[in-house]
Amino acid sequence: MGFGVAMILFGVVLLVSWGQNPFYIVAGFFLLVLGMAAFVTPLSIFSRWDSFPVPKVRCRHCATLNYETTARCRNCGANMFERAAPLS
Ligand SMILES: [Zn+2]
Repeated sequence: MGFGVAMILFGVVLLVSWGQNPFYIVAGFFLLVLGMAAFVTPLSIFSRWDSFPVPKVRCRHCATLNYETTARCRNCGANMFERAAPLS
């Protein structure tokens, strides 16, 4: 994220100092857009709340991975709190 802020700042500096070279407008605008993208991307795609490693448990009936918090298997609907069938 700090990299994006640095790019935005550098882009603004280039935009402000366009009087020295008209090309600075284009370069500054590009840096501004790229900096915004680099600033926003980690907030939107790569750090979503549901991308955290959530513990999963396997269904005893069909071995499908379910979230730890689910009450029933999302594949076969079996009760996740049901104990395995006794061997006797
Ligand atoms: Zn199941």
